[in-house]
Amino acid sequence: MVNIHKPFHQKYRPNNLGELVGQDIISSTLKQALLSKKIAPAYLFSGPRGTGKTSSARILAKSLNCLNHSEPNPNPCNQCELCKNISEGIALDIIEIDAASNTGVENIRDIIERARFAPTQARWKVYVIDECHMLSTAASNALLKTIEEPPTNVVFILATTNPERVLNTIQSRCQRYDFRRINNEAIYKHLLDIAKRESIVFENKAIKLISKRANGGMRDAQSLLDQLSLMPNGITKKNVEQLLGEVSENDLIDLINSLINNDPERLITSCAKLYDLGNEPREILEGLLNVTRDLLLKSKNDDYSELFYTSEDFYPTLTKIAELINKSRVISWHKKLKNIEYQIKTSNQPRLWLEVNLTSLLEIHDDVSNRDENSNNRQKIISSSHLNNHDKQFSQNNNPKENNESIKEENQATDHTPNPEVKTNSKFTSKSDQDLAEKWTLILTKIELPSTRMLLSQQAKLVGIFKDSIEISLAPNWENMIKSRKPLIDDAVKQIFGNKMKINFISERDFQPNSDAKLLKTNKNESKKNEKTEIIESQTQLNKDNHKSENTKSPENLANFFNGEIIDFQD
Ligand SMILES: [Zn+2]
Repeated sequence: MVNIHKPFHQKYRPNNLGELVGQDIISSTLKQALLSKKIAPAYLFSGPRGTGKTSSARILAKSLNCLNHSEPNPNPCNQCELCKNISEGIALDIIEIDAASNTGVENIRDIIERARFAPTQARWKVYVIDECHMLSTAASNALLKTIEEPPTNVVFILATTNPERVLNTIQSRCQRYDFRRINNEAIYKHLLDIAKRESIVFENKAIKLISKRANGGMRDAQSLLDQLSLMPNGITKKNVEQLLGEVSENDLIDLINSLINNDPERLITSCAKLYDLGNEPREILEGLLNVTRDLLLKSKNDDYSELFYTSEDFYPTLTKIAELINKSRVISWHKKLKNIEYQIKTSNQPRLWLEVNLTSLLEIHDDVSNRDENSNNRQKIISSSHLNNHDKQFSQNNNPKENNESIKEENQATDHTPNPEVKTNSKFTSKSDQDLAEKWTLILTKIELPSTRMLLSQQAKLVGIFKDSIEISLAPNWENMIKSRKPLIDDAVKQIFGNKMKINFISERDFQPNSDAKLLKTNKNESKKNEKTEIIESQTQLNKDNHKSENTKSPENLANFFNGEIIDFQD
């Protein structure tokens, strides 16, 4: 014959108020009430699920009725027939009602009828109404009448996870007990006790992790333990993580390092590794947020380690990470990630959006700014690259000397005067397809509507960044639709480049596939209003491969190249 397995949360229910875990005030108050025989006609037990409300109700019922005591006693024997029947939930005089499934007024009338009759076996009739906030108003009113003039030796115990939804008139006639979430340590000790009694093979840190993840609910913790006890290799931390769908903290280290070091390649590759291990984008995000949340709590003396979400054996790593990053940066990460869960849930490409959003956490500083300082703050406005020409790198030459050669009409007189405007602008100059792609990704992260974001990611592309404008090329069939969303794109662009940045749309088909990238330079010696646009042929290696470069040497040709509308530096 097969033994039916009794779930841990039933097998290890507390048998008396002393065994009730984590609700000390409630158990001592109820004990005192039983000892002094001050029994209220109605109790309201409120609190989160799995915190001991129903267990307490049964204990109270046994304490009132145990056959081995002649009067209420906080220590029922748990051996007599009545105690056993109450534990099993089959005692005639202890009526348990699940209001969630008995919301009709007829059921409550039935209760009223039966409450008038004397108990058959017990001294006290006890009515336990679970989820009492689910009663209909009519049913609640019927109940109210009964507890207003309670029959003798009848106790109503109303349990609820939503006390604010219980009628005030009912609440005011009940003695109210608020059950608290049980702290991790108490749950841990209790689980440890069960594991030993059940001869379960376990890792201590696994039991600690279960206690943390139970969120203060003993029943959930016991159910997890119960399920994990069936694992052939015992309860390990890895098993717990897998059952809960969590990313292992140690697997996240590489990703966190890539963010701290602003390393996009490593960011994407570490994400890929996490996918390969079977983690979903949402799980990766949650794991990352758990760690960053703990980074905010991290202090020198670990004053708040009690509140850490990460496990104890991760603390040394957490300490090392905390030394590399300040809290303000973590807070800015959180700001940027606040809507990402929704994006991941609603997108059919959650992996892409996780990566895009994580990329937005990187602080990429173009080395252009350094180079500008090296070359005496020369002002440069550089357009690069265009569609259908991915294989060509329009990189500005990194050697300052060669740059000097490539830029004509350079005004040496102003070169030694630092110009703050130049510095601000310089970080928006781009030198390669990769830069443009990165900036485009950044802009996309600021677009809130997923559909628009998707449209832009597929049918549009950033092809040039100028001093006060950017240009976006559009796929031929999508031009009108994308242009109709200009306000949204404007907003996103302003978030990245500031308020003065204008958007110029150009059509992908207007591109000359073999046109060259040109370095455009404004002469900063001129006043802003008279800024003069120069077109300077790039001297990079690229030009040597390009046979049609002569077509774009004049401003007119360049204007044609940009569809005749975008190169306008006049304010
Ligand atoms: Zn008993």
